[in-house]
Amino acid sequence: MIAVNIEKKLKAYNGLQVLRIKKDFLPGGITRITGPSGAGKTTFLKMIAGLITPDSGIIKTNSITWFDAAQKINLSPQQRRVGFVFQDYALFPNMTVKQHLEYATDDAEWINRLLHIGGLDTFADHRPGHLSGGQQQRLAIMRALAIKPKLLLMDEPFSALDLKMKSALIADLQVLFTKLGATTLIVSHNPQELDGVSGDELEIF
Ligand code: ADP
Repeated sequence: MIAVNIEKKLKAYNGLQVLRIKKDFLPGGITRITGPSGAGKTTFLKMIAGLITPDSGIIKTNSITWFDAAQKINLSPQQRRVGFVFQDYALFPNMTVKQHLEYATDDAEWINRLLHIGGLDTFADHRPGHLSGGQQQRLAIMRALAIKPKLLLMDEPFSALDLKMKSALIADLQVLFTKLGATTLIVSHNPQELDGVSGDELEIF
């Protein structure tokens, strides 16, 4: 389980807005995070990953406290080891598809499985600049999974995929999540985009 109880003042264009989130995410569960643009969905994921620091509160797993403002505990992103799919993919321009995965794991069998699920087998030696938007997005997802994370944070992960591709991928991903026992949080500004995903829901507004 990951228990979150945090606050952060957001510097919004129309002044200050306070993001307050208190929620326990069950192990192995999927939570869809929805809400309008600018509500703080990306900021929330980045606070869990350790990329943005909350103003106050606690983030803890069953066994480890990742963040505790009062006790001045703040584990680095590397220590938290979450899988993160960034909205803008954040791929490495000079690495091939396969190198992106090899950078994260040396499990060759796992790499091959991810390449296959991502429909990227025949693109293993391509750099991101030679991939379509959908392929880049699938690579971003597979790279996040390469470390076999116990917590996977995905920010608008299916936005560049057509409906057919998305449904097939979601079905495959749900099998992988179960295998990994990964707790998964998926952000989307459009609730319909996650129609094929069963799970819990958190609305931020
Ligand atoms: P969403 O993902 O729901 O569209 P974001 O999390 O991207 O929303 O942004 C929500 C608001 O938080 C924006 O107004 C943005 O300017 C503000 N914001 C983003 N990063 C920070 C930060 N590190 N500190 C304070 N405010 C931030």
